[in-house]
Amino acid sequence: MYLLKTDAVVIHCADFGESDLIVTLYTYDLGKIRGIAKGAKRSKKRFVNNLQPFSYIRIIFSEGRGGLIRLDQADIIQPFFLISKDIFKVLYGSYFLELMKEMTGEKEANPQLFCLLVDFLSVLNDSPPREEYLRVFEMRVLDLLGYRPRLGECTICARRISQGEGAWFSYRHGGVVCKGCQTKVRGSVPVSGATLEAMEKALEMDLGEVGEIQFFPDVLSESREILPRFIQYQLGKGLKSLKVMEEIQGD
Ligand SMILES: [Zn+2]
Repeated sequence: MYLLKTDAVVIHCADFGESDLIVTLYTYDLGKIRGIAKGAKRSKKRFVNNLQPFSYIRIIFSEGRGGLIRLDQADIIQPFFLISKDIFKVLYGSYFLELMKEMTGEKEANPQLFCLLVDFLSVLNDSPPREEYLRVFEMRVLDLLGYRPRLGECTICARRISQGEGAWFSYRHGGVVCKGCQTKVRGSVPVSGATLEAMEKALEMDLGEVGEIQFFPDVLSESREILPRFIQYQLGKGLKSLKVMEEIQGD
């Protein structure tokens, strides 16, 4: 039996029987995987509490049955334990993890996406929680998974939309539509130039600057309407962490 090694972020962990744990991980080498940690609840030495959500770990494992890997060992690289000390950090971090869980397929490696997740958990751990992080993360995830919204020109007639003429966002077309085309598209919503600019910037900005990012209030509220809805449209389902966030934040 070959033992393999990779780096991982714990997305989910649940009890399985008397002494085992079932974990969902997002890994550097294999993308999303699910595994079983035999005797994890008893074995302090091999696992301690290293399988808590948000933990950045190095695992040793082997291929198991039924698509599940068999976890042999998990060592902490970075626990990101400050996330669990703040309700907003927990909410935002849970959303990052849920996006990884729902938007990626099992064993579809995407090292860039893995690094993005680690970068954002790190920002969330080290800086005050800002809703802007969610918007930047969403744009980057969409981009890395091939769903980057088209923002510069109309997705229908391909005409470049200039400042001040008005633009609409179409979930179905995956980007902006111009004034002329908007009347033919059901369900598109108006989007300001400032919000489009912020969305573009989210894709290009240096991630070292994310901790400092600040949107204008109307950009924040507009992008909060558009991006999570666009993601849920792509997924064809609602996201639990967003629902919890809406309930707690209110409006
Ligand atoms: Zn058009």
